[in-house]
Amino acid sequence: MAVLPIRIMGDPVLHSPASPVEEITDDIRALVADMFETMDAAPGVGLAAPQVGVPLRIYTYAYVDDDDQPWRGVLINPELWIAPIEPGDPDPDLESEGCLSFPGERFPLRRSERVRLTATDLEGRPVTIDVDGWRARIMQHEFDHLDGVLYVDRLSDGDWKTVQKIARKRGWGRAGVSWMPGVDDLEG
Ligand code: ZN
Repeated sequence: MAVLPIRIMGDPVLHSPASPVEEITDDIRALVADMFETMDAAPGVGLAAPQVGVPLRIYTYAYVDDDDQPWRGVLINPELWIAPIEPGDPDPDLESEGCLSFPGERFPLRRSERVRLTATDLEGRPVTIDVDGWRARIMQHEFDHLDGVLYVDRLSDGDWKTVQKIARKRGWGRAGVSWMPGVDDLEG
């Protein structure tokens, strides 16, 4: 197993739709093991394969609730359904999220409160997941990665301008920029 470098906004792999996994091979299992290790090292609550440069429809997630219930897994070829999004502006304290591919920053974004996913697990078995609240947010965020969408793409015009300013200042927003968990002092 190995910690992998995480691509940063601007790398083409983050901005194009990923391909379905055809077959769960040893290579896929090794990739998923590396993704878990990378996600934990970052640390992050989710990591999609495109973020480590692999254009496949896979993501890992890990979240511990207030009641300490650990929630952790990997989804392959997920399909997502979301409940209608409540209209209105997001609350910056309660509805801000971050991304390992735009590390060290958080911006408010309104998401659906409730989602359902169907997917395949690492053994090739079908799984269905119904979640709400922060778990639903994680699922929407990671699923977006598989369609080449970053959460910063969904921000208000004002926040998007801030994102571009930050990207310019740090030399992001171009191909081939990445950071290494445990080496570079950045976090999502
Ligand atoms: Zn992300």
